[in-house]
Amino acid sequence: MKKFIKNHHYRGRFAPSPTGPLHFGSLVAAMGSYLDARSCDGEWLIRIEDLDRTREINGATQLILETLVKFGFWWDGEIIYQSRRTDAYAAAIEKLVNRHLAYPCACTRKEIMERAVTGVEGAIYPGTCRKGLAEGREGRSIRVLTSEGPINISDAVQGPLIQQIDREIGDFIIRRADGYHAYQLAVVIDDAWQGITHIVRGADLLTSTPRQVFLQKLFGLSHPIYAHLPLAVDNQGRKLSKQHHDTPVDPKQPMDALLQALAFLHQPLPPQRPNSLDEFWRWATAHWSLAAIPAIHQIPASSLRYLNNLR
Ligand code: GLU
Repeated sequence: MKKFIKNHHYRGRFAPSPTGPLHFGSLVAAMGSYLDARSCDGEWLIRIEDLDRTREINGATQLILETLVKFGFWWDGEIIYQSRRTDAYAAAIEKLVNRHLAYPCACTRKEIMERAVTGVEGAIYPGTCRKGLAEGREGRSIRVLTSEGPINISDAVQGPLIQQIDREIGDFIIRRADGYHAYQLAVVIDDAWQGITHIVRGADLLTSTPRQVFLQKLFGLSHPIYAHLPLAVDNQGRKLSKQHHDTPVDPKQPMDALLQALAFLHQPLPPQRPNSLDEFWRWATAHWSLAAIPAIHQIPASSLRYLNNLR
């Protein structure tokens, strides 16, 4: 019976940006979020993060979804597209501006670079437009007003993280100068709107998490549980990514890539090569352990030699 009762306390998601076909790094994120949700009898939703149309590759959304299906993933509910959610983001920004928690900024990148100190995420905004725009200047982007006090995260894989957001990041952008809403804002609004309780994703977003928690606090939203998986990188420590044209996973050979992704996440491997995708997913769901994932930010994908032992 248990199988048919959905655990409505767990709602996970996979949120790819359609910047290219699914590659090994995004397969790991899809698998981690999927297995964590399914092993808790939870739901798993898909959100296409196609906010920035300039980075979108034609046909990538379709390709990602088809590949997920060929790999045996199935999702709950309707797929959400961020490109159709701009009214919700605009309304959220308006609320912050009305509460004087966000402000227009006239600074160009060059002006910021001239004055800023560099932090974990690049230039820390020096606060030039915080008290209002200088005479004759026009707002280009919108920034949120950060405040003092640490943001504490307890990541289920990486452990505790404390960030002094005002000093380490500075007032950050929620609407870009090109008019697009920023990822940090959209992700918070959508995770809340979709009722997401657990976020499992790549460790490249670990240092973004305090900004997201900060925005959740401003909007009075609840905080999901976060788990950041080690990132698959190349030998130079560069993230394997769709934009960098790293080799996509082959939808015609799902089993090899699935076993590699499972091994990458330090999960127990099936004693023999599974005969079907169903068999793979049954094994992987039954043996899933978040605690087995190493608390490190990166793993070179070239260190994957696990398959030799399986053949
Ligand atoms: N869209 C992001 C990506 O493809 C993931 C965002 C998230 O999981 O919060 O890297």
